[in-house]
Amino acid sequence: MEKVRISDLAWPDYARRVKDGAMVLVPVGALEQHGPHMSMNPDVLLPTAIAERVAGNIGGLVAPAIAYGYKSQQQSGGGNHMPGNTSLDGQTMICLVRDVLRELARHGVRQVVLVNGHYENSMFLTEGVDLCLRELRWSGIHDFRCIILSYWDFIDEATIRTIYADDFPGWAVEHGGVLETSLMLHLHPDLVNMDLVQDHPPARFPPYDHFPVRPELTPPSGCLSSARRATAEYGELLLKVAVEGISTALRDAFEPAR
Ligand code: ZN
Ligand code: MN
Repeated sequence: MEKVRISDLAWPDYARRVKDGAMVLVPVGALEQHGPHMSMNPDVLLPTAIAERVAGNIGGLVAPAIAYGYKSQQQSGGGNHMPGNTSLDGQTMICLVRDVLRELARHGVRQVVLVNGHYENSMFLTEGVDLCLRELRWSGIHDFRCIILSYWDFIDEATIRTIYADDFPGWAVEHGGVLETSLMLHLHPDLVNMDLVQDHPPARFPPYDHFPVRPELTPPSGCLSSARRATAEYGELLLKVAVEGISTALRDAFEPAR
């Protein structure tokens, strides 16, 4: 099978793949606490694993992940006050995305996919892409295209029902919960310790954000819902559904490599 990681290629091989029209997937994550039971890198490892499988399916390439992200927010990640969270200012994130995309465009890449694994990144990715497209237009490049997606948006209703029955708490409070923990149990079991999962109901927040955060609103575990029901089997199913869904979407949206 052809290699998919850009960083594993010598430059002539990379240049040839780009010339042949390969799309490039860029995983984007964060260094963020995910509870006492799990390492701090699921937001990087999960979109990377998904991107590599998708790239294998459709003949794409995967760039090294952007391993830092925008600040954890209380209602979606527990809050940036938690130990370990190592986050970027919004403007840094925006410029980082813009620069990486512009470099890919300079190499001749014309189809890029940002595979997001950290909820809070979304709008900063949008702005980075927008600034890059504007800059490329000024340089006379009009055929560069980019897709931004978050992998959990490809988990369909049937899969949600299989895993959560009637107890799906919503993706925002899935931070450190069943989705991420199951995927990590399947892909990186050495980075999860289910004995340390703290069982508690999904976090409840008022319908507004308060700054500075009131730490008492975040469950002491740092997770926004319990990972108790996570299993490696669920992880395998979630991975399959996400990879198939994203592969199909990209085949529809982009032209195949030659
Ligand atoms: Zn996460
Ligand atoms: Mn996150």
